[in-house]
Amino acid sequence: MHELSLCQNLIDQVTDLAHKHQARSVACVRVQIGQLAGVEPLLLESAFTIARVGTVAELAEMVTEVVAPCVVCNACGSESEVTPSSLLCLACGGNDTRLIRGDELILARVELVVDEQRSSRVAQ
Ligand SMILES: [Zn+2]
Repeated sequence: MHELSLCQNLIDQVTDLAHKHQARSVACVRVQIGQLAGVEPLLLESAFTIARVGTVAELAEMVTEVVAPCVVCNACGSESEVTPSSLLCLACGGNDTRLIRGDELILARVELVVDEQRSSRVAQ
């Protein structure tokens, strides 16, 4: 399962962060999923419930956010937020565009529990 190996990779990153900040546990993991990443948010969330078992993120909640693709136009230099079905430049209508966002999975934020009273938010 593709999503499970992605989750194990996320858990590795989260575990590193938790150790770095001497966190007791992880409260929340927020990830951004590009619409062209080929990742199904619901599958990712359910894979996360398997991958987190026995880790510092065992009690963590995963929040997913789908991110629209973004292209930069080689002809006019504009950046456009586009749909997966059309990667045309919105400024000039050209099709000579390069994808700069939307095909990746990003660990956007990890919320760590440092002690009983306090939680610290760590942005990546
Ligand atoms: Zn353009």
